[in-house]
Amino acid sequence: MQNTATPTHCPYCALQCGMNLTPTPDGTVEVSERADFPVNRGALCGKGRTAPAVLARNVRLTSPLVRDEGGTLVPASWDEALDRIAAGLGRTRAAHGPDAVGVFGGGGLTNEKAYTLGKFARVVLGTSQIDYNGRFCMSSAAAAGIKAFGLDRGLPFPLEDIPKSGCVILVGSNLAETMPPSLRFFTELKENGGTLIVIDPRRTRTAEQADLHLAPRPGTDLALALGLLHLVIAEGRVDEEYVAERTAGWEDARAAAMAHWPEYVERITGVSVPELRETVRLFCAPESAMVLTARGPEQQSKGTDTVGAWINLCLATGRAGRPLSGYGCLTGQGNGQGGREHGQKADQLPGYRKLDDPAARAHVAEVWGVDPDSLPGPGRSAYELLDALGTDIRSLLLMASNPVVSAPRAAHVEERIRSLDFLAVCDVVLSETAALADVVLPVTQWAEETGTTTSLEGRVLLRRRAITPPDGVRSDLEVLHELAARLGVEKGFPTDPEEVFEELRRASAGGPADYSGITYRRLAEENGVFWPCPAVAEPVEDGEDALLDAPLPDDPARQAASGHPGTPRLFLDRFATPDGRARFVPVSHRAIAEEPDDEYPVLLTTGRVVAQYQSGAQTRRVAELNAAAPGPFVEIHPRLAARLGAAEGDPVAVVSRRGRAVAPARITGAIRPDTVFMPFHWPGEGRANTLTNPALDPTSRMPEFKACAVRLETVER
Ligand code: SF4
Repeated sequence: MQNTATPTHCPYCALQCGMNLTPTPDGTVEVSERADFPVNRGALCGKGRTAPAVLARNVRLTSPLVRDEGGTLVPASWDEALDRIAAGLGRTRAAHGPDAVGVFGGGGLTNEKAYTLGKFARVVLGTSQIDYNGRFCMSSAAAAGIKAFGLDRGLPFPLEDIPKSGCVILVGSNLAETMPPSLRFFTELKENGGTLIVIDPRRTRTAEQADLHLAPRPGTDLALALGLLHLVIAEGRVDEEYVAERTAGWEDARAAAMAHWPEYVERITGVSVPELRETVRLFCAPESAMVLTARGPEQQSKGTDTVGAWINLCLATGRAGRPLSGYGCLTGQGNGQGGREHGQKADQLPGYRKLDDPAARAHVAEVWGVDPDSLPGPGRSAYELLDALGTDIRSLLLMASNPVVSAPRAAHVEERIRSLDFLAVCDVVLSETAALADVVLPVTQWAEETGTTTSLEGRVLLRRRAITPPDGVRSDLEVLHELAARLGVEKGFPTDPEEVFEELRRASAGGPADYSGITYRRLAEENGVFWPCPAVAEPVEDGEDALLDAPLPDDPARQAASGHPGTPRLFLDRFATPDGRARFVPVSHRAIAEEPDDEYPVLLTTGRVVAQYQSGAQTRRVAELNAAAPGPFVEIHPRLAARLGAAEGDPVAVVSRRGRAVAPARITGAIRPDTVFMPFHWPGEGRANTLTNPALDPTSRMPEFKACAVRLETVER
C-alpha cells in the first residue's frame, strides 16, 4: 500500500466530512486535514478524528466466530462460518418458506453494499422481509417529502446555500453535537445578517447559537408549525402568487391551519403567542428562508404529518423550490440517504423505485436477469420485522446494525432476537447484537475498502481504500458473494465495488434517484456528484441534455464529454410531481401515543452526545471518546430534581411501561421541568431504548423515540 495520503470521507455521520488518510506502521491510518472538500473544509469532530482507533486489531474482530455446543462464541475458519450461515438460512427457508428468513441492514453500508444486500434478499433468499435501521432515522421526512414534492432527497440544496439565506428554522436538531463542522454554515448565516431560530425542548449547544430559541413540549412540533401557519395567514403573509402558480391543495391545508389558534397552540406547546409572532416575523421578513428538520419532529408516531406541517409553512410563504429557500431534512447516518435509495428498504428497489410498481419491477428484474414475478413484494418495516423475530421470522442475517441498543423497546427486541432459530451478524466489532449471534463475520472498514456513499446533501461521494485490511477479515460484498454461491446463485454478486456500482447505475437509470450518469472516475475528479444525474446522449442545441433510458454509453470518453452535471439544487423549475406542483397536505394536531398521566407523569426524550455515535458500537471502543462521554445520564430540571430529592450525580431510575433504566442525574436548567432527556448510546442498565415507545407513524412506520411517559425514582446505592 502506498505511503501517501488518500483523500476519502469519514465513516460516521451523513455530513461525510472529507479527510486524508496516511498509512501508519502499525497497520492503521493517520487522519489529516482535507481542505478541498467544501462541506467541512478540513474540520472534523472528535469522532472522525479518532475513527482509526477502531481499525486496531485489539479493538475489532479479525476472525469469524461460531457458537460451540457449550454456547460460547469461538474462532472458526471462514469456510466453516459461511457454511453454517448458508445452512442456517437454507434450513429455515426449506422448513418455513422464504419469508421466514429476515434481513436487516444499516444506514452505514455503502451504496454498493446496500444495493447488493437488497438484491441478495430478493434474488437469493426470495424473502420480502428486509428493512434497515435507517427506518429509525429519516423515514418520516422521506415520506413527507415524497407526498409534498414527489421526491425525497435530504437537502434539496447544498449546505453552502445556508449562509446566504435570510432565515433558517432548525427543528429538533442539535448539530453542535451531532455534526459539529456543519455549525459554521449557521455561524456564517448570522454573520451575513441572517437569522437562526432553533426549536428544541432543551437549550442545547445549538440552541445557544440561536437568535430565537423556542422550547416546545416534546411531541408538539406539529401543533407549533400549524400555529405559525395560522399566523402567516392571519397576518396576510401568504405568497398568493406562488401558491397559485406552484402548488396544489392549499384550501384544505389553510382550513386545517385556521383551526389552530395561537392561544390554543400556546396551551399545547408551551410556546407563548409573542414567541410565535416573533418567529413568523423573522421567517417572513427576508426574501429567502429555510426550514430544516431532524430527528426531533421526525421520530414521532405522527412524524410524517409533523414534517408535512413544516413543509406547508414553507409552501404557503413561497419558501420552496426557490433560490436559497426550501425545506430540508438533516439525515443522520453516514449513508442514510443512499441506504434508502437502492433497495435495502422494505418497499423499495434501486433508484428509489417502488417495489409494488410493475414497471419498476420489470426494469430492475431485467438488470438482475430474473423474472419480475419472482421478486417478492414489500415487507415489514424495521420495528415490525424485529418484533416478528422468533415467531414467523425464524432466521436473520444482520449487517452493520446494533438493534439491541438502538431499537425502541429494546429489552423486548433483545428477547425477540434471542428467540431466533438462527442469527448471523456481519460487523467490525462484537456489538451487543453480534454477541447474541450463532455466527459472526468480521468485515472490512471504511479505510480498507472502496465504495460510494450519498451525503445528506444528496451528493454521491467516493470513499477510497487507503490500507490493506488485516488477515482474517473480508468485505460485506465478499460475504454476500460467498453466501449466494452456497445458496445456489453462482452469478450476479461481484465482489469488486466498482463492478457493483456499474450495475447499480443501470438499475437506477430512469428512477427518481438516478445515478446512471455517475462513474467512479467522475466522483474522483469532481469531489462528488449530486443526484439525479442521468446518463445523457449527445448535448442538444439548446444545451438541454436528452435522457437515455438504456443502455448506458460504453465509451468512457463519450460519457465524460457529454456527462450530466448532476443536480445540486432541486425543484427550481418544477417539483417532481406529475404536474410539477408541490402538494399541500392538510394535517391537524394530535397527541403523542403516550401522554403523561398520574402513574407516568414526566416526558422522556432521547438523543445524542457529541463524543458518541448511534449505538456506540464503534465509538464506545475509542478511549478518547469514552473519556469525554463515559456513560449515560438523565438530564433533569432543578425543580423536578428537587421534587424527586435527587442531587447531581445521584443514580435515578427512569421507568416507563416498557422497562426501567438507571443512570446518574445531570441537573440543568437547560431542559423543561416536565421533561427528562437521556442519550441512547449505551447498553445495560442505562439503556435509554429500554424505555422508548415503538408506537409507529402510520405512513413512515417510524417509532416514537422522541416522547414517551415515564416516572422517576431515587435509587439506593
Ligand atoms: Fe465524521 Fe460527522 Fe464528525 Fe464529520 S461531523 S467528522 S462526518 S462524525
